[in-house]
Amino acid sequence: MADCIFCKIVAKEIPAQILYEDKDVISFRDINPMAPVHLLIIPKQHYQDLNTAAPADECLLGHILAVAQKLAVEQGIAESGYRVVANNGLNAGQIVDHLHFHLIGGHLLPDFA
Ligand code: 5GP
Ligand code: ZN
Repeated sequence: MADCIFCKIVAKEIPAQILYEDKDVISFRDINPMAPVHLLIIPKQHYQDLNTAAPADECLLGHILAVAQKLAVEQGIAESGYRVVANNGLNAGQIVDHLHFHLIGGHLLPDFA
């Protein structure tokens, strides 16, 4: 989608520290990390948020969680603990309108408000 920063990362039009990529999914480091490990895992196809995913996308959504698990192991945070978070819409503070899952860990994370 035009003017979507994450679509531009998918298209390699802007740089990112990519840690994982397959035909459907890409993962890269968050530009403003809130923890020692802070990755974003996104579908390559543009979805605004989870609301725009359909039942036919269940396999893709499950695959994203499997990629999160694999990256947590690779990043050494699987045993110490980590969070997988998708912000959806205004009240959740979603800033980038391309569905993404944060993988966050590496230190004790604050309680949710
Ligand atoms: P949201 O609040 O939408 O869930 O979070 C968007 C995340 O994307 C933020 O943590 C922000 O730091 C990250 N981000 C925004 N722009 C870029 C970018 O150009 N490159 C990378 N790697 N991360 C970005
Ligand atoms: Zn996009």
